[in-house]
Amino acid sequence: MKLVNLKDHSEQLSFTEAVVKGIGREQGLFFPEKIEPLADIDSLLDLPLVERSQKILRHLIGDELDCLEDIIADAFTFKAPVVKADENIYALELFHGPTLAFKDFGARFMARVLGAVRGDRKLTILTATSGDTGAAVADAFYGQKGIEVVVLYPKGKISSLQEKLIATLGGNIHAVSVEGIFDECQDLVKTAFDDLEFKNAVGLNSANSINISRLLAQVSYYFEAVAQLAPEKRGKVVFSVPCGNFGNITAGLIAKALGLKARFVISCNANDTVPRYLKTGVWEPHKTIATLSNAMDISRPNNWPRVEALCRMQGWSLSSFDFGAMSDAMTEETMRSLYKRTGYVAEPHAAIAYQILKDNLKEGETGIFLGTAHPAKFKSDVDRILGTDISLPDALEKRVQLTSQSVTLKPDYEGLRSFVLKTVG
Ligand SMILES: *Cc1c(COP(=O)(O)O)cnc(C)c1O
Repeated sequence: MKLVNLKDHSEQLSFTEAVVKGIGREQGLFFPEKIEPLADIDSLLDLPLVERSQKILRHLIGDELDCLEDIIADAFTFKAPVVKADENIYALELFHGPTLAFKDFGARFMARVLGAVRGDRKLTILTATSGDTGAAVADAFYGQKGIEVVVLYPKGKISSLQEKLIATLGGNIHAVSVEGIFDECQDLVKTAFDDLEFKNAVGLNSANSINISRLLAQVSYYFEAVAQLAPEKRGKVVFSVPCGNFGNITAGLIAKALGLKARFVISCNANDTVPRYLKTGVWEPHKTIATLSNAMDISRPNNWPRVEALCRMQGWSLSSFDFGAMSDAMTEETMRSLYKRTGYVAEPHAAIAYQILKDNLKEGETGIFLGTAHPAKFKSDVDRILGTDISLPDALEKRVQLTSQSVTLKPDYEGLRSFVLKTVG
């Protein structure tokens, strides 16, 4: 597989090189130079998830990485069920992995790929999180030999469940609660990446959603969703994706480029840079605002250049997307009315994707919205809005009982630097 830097086409890398590098020159994103369609999608759809994903990712990645098939079998150990939520509308539930969010797919795949390609190099993953990503990354890298993980999060500003998922593992996972806000955590990470001496000393890598391996892993579950539909429904599928950084929908569009028959609806909350852009042609990010669907509180989505590049490559018009942006009030209303009518419990991200799908679904189409997080991850909001008392899956119930082991640091680079050198050195 050849990947090119979207900002500087002269930088071309193999898949494994791009995974290690993460981001290219001038902060450019890596993207496949071309995507060859898959030959026989109908017979692929008949295969089980792991076997099908092995074939799809082998086709995309080509003959690098001999152990790709083992990595996939080891990473995709949980189901992604399609559950009926309404007439002609289904939820693709991506939250049955260890940290209850779709990010488990990408993070687990990436961790194993990095583990396989690092050779004798020691690696240190340094990542800042406002919640979900840190939990998925911590869990995915836990116990990976030769890789240390440092997760920074703003002290007191992530949910207690999220903190437990990051800070109760121990071993090679080091949780750091920073006395500050998320942006300060992010700035510390950026400073560390600019410190070349430090970067080389610890083998720094970031594991964030711009890493191409995370996106490729996510291509698999779009095929899995269609495979679970009755054959007569497979021809006219519409996916609605709750978008934040637009990684998830990029993966869906790669599936489409591979030949999966589907169209896509872009679903956003009040952080609506892309819906406004599609309406007016003007790219004008507003200040990010906090909403119930906080994983989508992003006004400068970093994967958008990939969506545009893919559309150019495939000759798709941006005007072919349906899209929408929903307020918190509408999100709550949607959660309540869906629950009352059908009994389906959607957390805020899924509810947005559901409603915008419903508004745009045409006669004869089958709609699938992506359930990106388990309702229990947003328990206090979901219970307040729906009057429920939802419980955590058993495995997590146990984790919540454990004590968090994190180190508290000031938002000061020198302090972080010496902590990391001492910890991973
Ligand atoms: C990360 C996340 C999203 C946004 O996904 P992107 O790939 O960033 O667009 C949506 N919902 C949940 C629950 C998430 O954790």
